[in-house]
Amino acid sequence: MVKFPEAEVRFFRNVFVCRKCKTKIKAPNLKAMAGKISCRKCGGKALRPVRRK
Ligand SMILES: [Zn+2]
Repeated sequence: MVKFPEAEVRFFRNVFVCRKCKTKIKAPNLKAMAGKISCRKCGGKALRPVRRK
């Protein structure tokens, strides 16, 4: 299996997880960082990148 940089970016950088309901949300990184993205389910604005550390 070959990993493509683009694929990795898609999977990790553009996907966020809602802190409240843990729903995965696809969103451009910049928008999410600016707090312009809200969760579809609960409407919360507390999002985390998928990668946890
Ligand atoms: Zn949520």
